Formats: sequence, structure tokens, C-alpha cells
Amino acid sequence: MKRHLRRAGALAVILGGLLVSAGSGAADAPAQPAVEGSEALKPKGRLRLLGSEVPPGTRKRLTWTSGTAIEGFVAPVPVFVVNGKGPGPVLCLTAAVHGDELNGIEVARRVLDDLDVDELNGAVIGVPIVNIQGFYRGTRYLPDRRDLNRYFPGNPRGSAATRMAHSFFTDVVRHCSALIDLHTGSLNRTNLPQVRADLRLPQVSRMSKAFGATVVLHSVGDRGSLRRAATEAGIPSVTFEMGEPMRVQSEQVEHGAKAVQTLLYSLGMTRQRRYWGDPEPVYYASKWVRVDHGGILFSDVALGERVSEGELLGVVTDPISNQQHRIYAPTSGRVLGMALNQVVLPGFAAYRIGTATTPSRMPKQPADEAAEDSREDDEAAPPEEADAPIG
Ligand SMILES: [Zn+2]
Repeated sequence: MKRHLRRAGALAVILGGLLVSAGSGAADAPAQPAVEGSEALKPKGRLRLLGSEVPPGTRKRLTWTSGTAIEGFVAPVPVFVVNGKGPGPVLCLTAAVHGDELNGIEVARRVLDDLDVDELNGAVIGVPIVNIQGFYRGTRYLPDRRDLNRYFPGNPRGSAATRMAHSFFTDVVRHCSALIDLHTGSLNRTNLPQVRADLRLPQVSRMSKAFGATVVLHSVGDRGSLRRAATEAGIPSVTFEMGEPMRVQSEQVEHGAKAVQTLLYSLGMTRQRRYWGDPEPVYYASKWVRVDHGGILFSDVALGERVSEGELLGVVTDPISNQQHRIYAPTSGRVLGMALNQVVLPGFAAYRIGTATTPSRMPKQPADEAAEDSREDDEAAPPEEADAPIG
């Protein structure tokens, strides 16, 4: 027990003002001291959303429909609301905003399934498959080929995508005190499990530290992304990236679920079950390494590997001329994201090399430069994908 308290104390120090009063009178209050600060997350009030009220101590499955489909073909999106008995913030967990990103769906399922309303302080709203149309069709996009994650917070009178974004933002996201949007690499790329957060914002920065031993990458976030729109609406938000699209990867899912559960504990919402021996996050700034020749890319490095400046990352072979071009690491660092072996064109961003840094150093970078360096375009793909089929 002593050990448990000591750990809890350490986490409370890390989190500082993020902690929300867990209600000292509640019998279910967690062991860690709750710190009430001016920057604490908004506490939950009466939870009324999507035409239902979810009282404390209950769990409900609700439905969100975007209203943009032909009425007879509406695809209802399940929204799980787990309202704990104790006071606390409302944490939202969204996945599959890109319909082909499957790891997050399983993370959301595990986290939601593991919650106990009797022990929970605050509430969790989970939407495991936001883009259900894309999910059914096995694609990241909406039926109109737009990327939903470029249209938040949306507009009720714009395109189908922007209407859908507005509906989701209004009906679900506005109820959140904080949000985690789960993603994977896109378009044949893979990512080391990592939190992406705008570390210039104190609340977001504190939140990013609470995911245990997880890489944290400073990035402002693309305009129109759920994370950026929610943060701009006063809801501290981060993106959690893990693995590849189109697959369910056990190691990635395991890390993701553990990280989110660590955050829940850090916020004083749950009792601790899982723990990292070394809960320190590692901060990175990153740059993409692009290939200068087209051909078939084979990598010599693995995801997460540490590389030295000048080390061979991979080789691109022209399938017709047999010419080979080697790609070397321009700097020492860690492979935080990379392309899977595939056919590439010149300019293709193949390796995302992260350089360890500290949060106090990163935010000083001008916002525009930071946005370019850590650009997310599809939360993983760098700029050449910007003209992907977005009408
Ligand atoms: Zn994504």
C-alpha cells in the first residue's frame, strides 16, 4: 500500500493542475491526493446528450447519426457513456475518425469494458468508430472522398463532411472536458505508439505527460482536425498514434490501452491497475526523411530503432534499371514513424526521425515552422499527401 501511495504521489506531482477534485467525501475516492487548480479540467455536470440522460453510476449505449445520409440508409454510430458514481471530468475517447484505422477501435473497447461505474470518478464517453461509413468500406475517407479529420468543428450549412463534423462536434465533443483521438499511421506507414500534442498549451502539455512511458511529439495539429478544433474550443485534446492502418496489432493495442488507462488513473478517475516501471515520457521533435528516387523501398531499420547520423535507413531500387539508391539518416535520433516496404515516387516521405528534446525547448519554435516540421496531414502522412482525394 505504501508503495502504491508513493507512486500515486509521483503522478500527482507530474500532473499538477490537471488533477480534479475527486470529492473528499466520496468513499470511492482514489488513493492519490487530488489537487484542485485553476487549470483543472472542467468537472462533469448532468450528462444529457443524444436525447438521453445518463445518471451517475450508470452506463448507456447511445447512438449518434450525422443526418447527412439518405434517411433510409442512416448508419447509426454507437456512443458509449460510462458515468461514474464519483465527481470528476468527462474524458472522451474517439477512434476510427479514419475508417481504416483499426487499432484504436480495440483500444477504446478494452478501456470502456474495463471501467467500473462504482469506482469511476467522472465519466468516459467512448466512440470506437466515428467514421462508420469509412469503416464499412475499409477506407479512411467519407463516402464523398473527403477526410473527416479536416472539417472540424464543422458547419451546419457546408459540405456533407463539414455538416457531419459539426453534428458530431455539437452532439458529442462539446460534452467532453478532455479528449483523446486514437489514430494509426496512414497510407502504408506505421507509427511508434505516440502522443501528439500542442505542447505550447499548459493543459495539453500536462495531459501529454500522463500516458506513462510513451513518446510525446510536439505538433500543433492540422487545421480542421478533431484534436485542434476541440483544443481551440477549450477542450484539451491529444492524438494518440499507434501502428498501421488496416490491421489490428496486439502490441500496439496493448500499449495504447495501457497508456489511456494510465491517463485515467493520473486524472484521478480510476484506481490503478496497470503501471509502467518508468512512467517518464520522452519528448521528441521530428523531421521527415524523403526519398529522392522512385522505385521499390526496402528498409534496413525497424520502427522505434535508434539510428546514428549517416546510418543506412533503407534502399530504393528501380525495378526496370536496377539502379539502387541508399537513404541515410541525416541526423541521429529514433525512428518514430516509417513507410512500409512499397513502391515510392521521388519526394515520398519515408522515415520520421525524432530527436529527443525537452518540452520547454520545443514550444519556443515558431508555430508555422513547428506545423511544417511535425505536419500531420492524415495524422501521419507528410505534405505530399495533402492533395489526396479531398475534392
Ligand atoms: Zn488517422
